[in-house]
Amino acid sequence: MDELRRRYLKQQAELGGDEVILTEPMAGTVTEASPAAPAATQPKWLRGAPPIPGPGIAVTTADPMLLGNDLANLPTLDAVADRIRTTYCCGLCPARTNAVPGEGDPNAKMVLVGEGPGATEDATGRPFVGQAGKLLDGILDAIEVPRTSVYITNIVKCRPPQNRKPLPDEIAACIPYLHRQLELIRPKVIVAMGGTAGEAMLGVRKGLGELRNKVHTFNGIPLIVTYHPAALLRNPNWKKPTWDDVRIARQLLDR
Ligand code: URA
Repeated sequence: MDELRRRYLKQQAELGGDEVILTEPMAGTVTEASPAAPAATQPKWLRGAPPIPGPGIAVTTADPMLLGNDLANLPTLDAVADRIRTTYCCGLCPARTNAVPGEGDPNAKMVLVGEGPGATEDATGRPFVGQAGKLLDGILDAIEVPRTSVYITNIVKCRPPQNRKPLPDEIAACIPYLHRQLELIRPKVIVAMGGTAGEAMLGVRKGLGELRNKVHTFNGIPLIVTYHPAALLRNPNWKKPTWDDVRIARQLLDR
């Protein structure tokens, strides 16, 4: 058993998960992914991965300048983060301990978007550092994408009370920050984690079932929708479909 797998299984055990995401194909089974390399040289995560699915929804956002939105003038991710930390844009802001703008590589090829900060994120000002964050770290490890190489953020940048879902007006007030962050990063792939993130980014009201397993585009950038890591802590049956989704996103990175 290699080190990566050992660490992953240990983490799963600590999280109380009774099913691991890292499922290896049984000896002799045919893998579904188009083998770009001979099986022996394929990375582990690609073995048994689903093929890249067909297109879904194509979203193009309005030019923020035309909307009179001066976020388009903020030249860097740091400038966007400063603005988030120093302004109130909706009813969530006054109750925050810290705003959580997002963190990661400004040249990230992959951006992961969650719903909104939880208690640990609110306390630290950093995204996905609580229980769900630990699971996300394991997922990134398993697809061989270092956390330091991606950018991680949320639809809303301040914690909703009792971790409730953000309301439509809170999302509408905050999502221009995400749009500007994506405009500055221009990643190769976006992963929306959870129905709230998927719906908010695609501007639709559809269940996760309808949004998964398609390659949507957001201003031309491929976007994959999958389960939120916190949902996997509640229902381990969703780990396998999540593992498939993130391996689709991982393949898009190499395209
Ligand atoms: N859940 C989220 O959606 N985002 C975080 O940053 C943490 C938990």
